[in-house]
Amino acid sequence: MMPLVKPLIQGFYFLGFGKHRPSKFRFSKILPLLLIVIAISCFLELAWPKRFLLPSLFGESVFCVNTPDKVLALTFDDGPDPVYTRVISQILLDYEAQGTFFVLGKHSEKYPQILRTLEKQGHEIANHTWHHYNLNSKFQDIIYKEITETDILINQLISPNNIHFRPPFGRAGFVVTNVLKQMHKPIIFWDVDLQDWRGKSAAEMMQRFEKNFHNGSIILLHDSDGTAKEGVYASRHNTVEVVEEILQTYTPQGYEFVTVSELLKRGNVVKVQERCLKK
Ligand SMILES: [Zn+2]
Repeated sequence: MMPLVKPLIQGFYFLGFGKHRPSKFRFSKILPLLLIVIAISCFLELAWPKRFLLPSLFGESVFCVNTPDKVLALTFDDGPDPVYTRVISQILLDYEAQGTFFVLGKHSEKYPQILRTLEKQGHEIANHTWHHYNLNSKFQDIIYKEITETDILINQLISPNNIHFRPPFGRAGFVVTNVLKQMHKPIIFWDVDLQDWRGKSAAEMMQRFEKNFHNGSIILLHDSDGTAKEGVYASRHNTVEVVEEILQTYTPQGYEFVTVSELLKRGNVVKVQERCLKK
């Protein structure tokens, strides 16, 4: 924080405050510009459909892949959870399907054995930060720490080839996008959000899935809850139900459910969500 203090003080004088005014610069002149910048930042931060704009423009983002193959990636955020992760991984196993689990460091530390089991079953373990903070509200050093400490733990528990990353709430502003670029990590988003985090029923989620998925889709689901307090987890019963229904319906139709790493090998990455083909 200390190196920031001097430029801040200089900026304070530059804007016309303080005892020594180095120029006739008046704060009121740049006030409209400042307000426009603040308004644009608020819009990008708050406008939910536009939250992917910055990583799409300036980062290496992934929303889906374009492929003629009947291949899909089911992804599960916020785990591992002692109940739901186990149930979901067993269902995947029953249908010879693979999934990608974007785990939290704080949960992985508590349930290391679940990560080892997931790896043995052929699933992919990916990074969803340690605490599940909204990274847009954090300084660069915290963002870096949230990602690296989770990577270190995953590497201690299993032997991944490559650890993919997804930011909590899908939020990646300028700083987050830049940190990930420096770390050479693409930002793995999704193109189909079944909204289990909103408490949708399995039937509603199945409808959303059928309406929106296509070959190469990345599906967002949750096997736990990133914001729940210690020991209290959201019910993911509906998620379990919809996963089983998707696999039961689409496996016999020749659809293959693969990890994100495998999906990326099977087609061209689509960097802008709107460009993922809709049915
Ligand atoms: Zn999350």
